Order: sequence, then C-alpha cells, then structure tokens
Amino acid sequence: MKKIQMVDLGGQYQEIKEQVNASISQILESTSFINGPEVHAFQKELEEYLGVRHVIPCANGTDALQIAMMGLGLKPGDEVITADFTFAATVEVIALLQLTPVLVDVDPETFNIDIKAVERAITPKTKAIVPVHLFGQCANMDAIMALAEEHNLFVIEDNAQAIGAKYLSADGTRKMAGTIGHVGATSFFPSKNLGCYGDGGAIFTNDDDLAHTLRGIVNHGMYERYHHDVIGVNSRLDSIQAAVLRAKLPKLNGYCNARRTAARKYNAALKGHKDIVLPKTVNSCEGICETCDCHVFHQYTIRITNGKRDGLVRFLAENDIPCGIYYPIPLHRQKAYLDARYDEADFKVTNQLVNEVISLPMHTELDDEQIAFITGKVIEFMNN
Ligand SMILES: *Cc1c(COP(=O)(O)O)cnc(C)c1O
Repeated sequence: MKKIQMVDLGGQYQEIKEQVNASISQILESTSFINGPEVHAFQKELEEYLGVRHVIPCANGTDALQIAMMGLGLKPGDEVITADFTFAATVEVIALLQLTPVLVDVDPETFNIDIKAVERAITPKTKAIVPVHLFGQCANMDAIMALAEEHNLFVIEDNAQAIGAKYLSADGTRKMAGTIGHVGATSFFPSKNLGCYGDGGAIFTNDDDLAHTLRGIVNHGMYERYHHDVIGVNSRLDSIQAAVLRAKLPKLNGYCNARRTAARKYNAALKGHKDIVLPKTVNSCEGICETCDCHVFHQYTIRITNGKRDGLVRFLAENDIPCGIYYPIPLHRQKAYLDARYDEADFKVTNQLVNEVISLPMHTELDDEQIAFITGKVIEFMNN
C-alpha cells in the first residue's frame, strides 16, 4: 500500500508536469514575472469557469478577504459577523482593519454559520456577514442573502475551501460558491482544492464598480500610474503561480469528483456506527450521490461522540494514518480575539465540535486500499 498522506499533491503534478514545466520555463525566458499574460489569461478562464463578471487575482486568500472588506468601504467600528468555527484568517483581517468581529455559533451538522445566531447578532452597527463555506460546502446562502437584504448588509463569502462547489437556491438556480454574495474571496494555497505552488488568491464579484475599486486596491491604490487615489496594498498573483493554476483549472471538476468519490467510500464504510456522525451534505442531495456537485470535500470531517476522539487520533498515528483536527480551539477562545461581550452559552456547538471533530486524509489520489485501511482502523478503535 502507498504511504497514506493527509494531502498528496504529487500525483496531480505528475499529470500536468509537462505543461507546467514548459510554461514556467517560458516565463523564466520572458522575464514577465508579475502581471504577465498568464495572470490575465487565468483571470479570464476563472471568470468563465465561475460564471462571474470579475475575478481579481491577488497574493493569497487572507489578502483577498482583507481587500474585499477594504473595497466595500467598511469603517473602524463597523461590526462584521462571522463563524466562530473557521480558520483564523477570516477573523484576523476583520480585526486588522479595526472592524469589530462578531463571532457566532455554527450548525452542528454542516459546521457552517448558524442563521439563527447571525440573526440574533445583528445590531444597528452591523455592516457585513462573512459566511465561510467550511470544508467544501456552502453555508445557507438563501437565508444569509435574505437577512442581508432585510438589514442592508454586505455579504463576503470566504470561499477558500469551496471553489468548484455549487449552491442550489430554493428558486432552483444553481450558482458557483463565491459568486452569490456581494463579493467572494478564495485561496490558492497548495493544499486547497485548486492550489498553486506557492501562495495565491482571488476576489470575485459581479459588481463592475466594486471590481474597479478592488483592482486599484491590490495595486497600491493606483488607477493611473503613480496616482494613488485610495490607500491600497501590494497583493499580486505572480505569473508562475498563474501558469500552475491554468494547468489545473480544467481539471478542477475532476478533482472535485475524486474527492466526492473518496467521501462516498468513507461514508459507506463508516455509516451506522452509533458513535460516529458522518458529514451532512445539504442542498441537492440527501446523501452523497454520483452526480451531486454541492460539496467538494476540502476536508472529510466526522464527529466522534463518545469522548474517544483524542484516543482515535493517537491510534491512527500509531498506524501511520495522518489526520487533522480542524479546528481545535474556537476563535472566541483564542487569546487574540477574546471579547468580554461573548457568552460561553452562545457557543454550545463550537465548544462541542472542537472536542469531537476529526478530519481523515482527503485528496485526489486516495485509493480503495488506503480508504479500506483507514476506515478499518477507525472502526477497530471505536469498537474496542
Ligand atoms: C486557507 C484559508 C484562508 C486563507 O488563505 P491563505 O491563502 O492561506 O491566506 C482563509 N479562510 C479559510 C476558511 C481558509 O481555509
């Protein structure tokens, strides 16, 4: 059996090696390292793939979130509601811009932001909601967009984990994750579903004026060379990363399918165990069907409900099976984001999830033998 890895990017590289190596050599020869033709071509190709009017490439996913918030003109003291159960980058940029992060609880089945909690958190100072499409599945965007409209709020989608996922609205329309709110942000960090070979990110919007503003902000606030109209940042996707992304984008749907297939096999092997809660897929399917495209399984995360989660982590490690705990500490309990206004009673779900979740190896190269070995060891430990 091949050694099991949490993320295995080697197989993907072998498939696109010739194209990637050739493009990179060409970039080296052309010396067009920044804002070269590859970046522009990738931008257009991603706009087409997502069905969105504007893609603004940038240096990483964290910048993408920050620039989106800058572009919307959010001001110090504005309250921004986001999930307590996410990667720190989401809340970090809110705090960096001196906006007030308002963390709220999540749904125990989908791990995504709890709509009722969002509703309770809205005050006259609230200006935006940042749903995070955690682990590859969209938050409840119908409800979020309705709340935003009612209270005149911006919606910034943190789509770092769900590029390629679709969202089925109650009215039957299907949209790509990240293109539903006013603005979406994603990351091309190597281990993300569409990853480059360094750092990269992008912002998406259908709003022409906002797109114009964002294109200036990523480039030092310049709309005309050496005229700085607004305070910007330096955040660029480089040509080499764009070349890698151009090679991978046509394969993204295939990558998503490979992840779904692995998730389906995990589910089949683990289902029915009384102390294991499988990831719930919402929207277009009841379980995980052959054709469903609503979940792209950035992570395959189960819950261990009998208190044996940490024991399982150790047992898997003894058997050379890597796993991840995403996330071990809720953001509201992280030192940097403590806020006297938070009440532990409002975070029942995240406080429970941090002790129950475990993410099993998930990538496009998992084979049946590996999945059988992993699930066999999980069951062996749980039945002991
Ligand atoms: C990875 C990630 C980010 C940050 O992306 P970087 O490219 O690493 O800056 C932000 N939000 C979420 C939910 C992520 O998973």
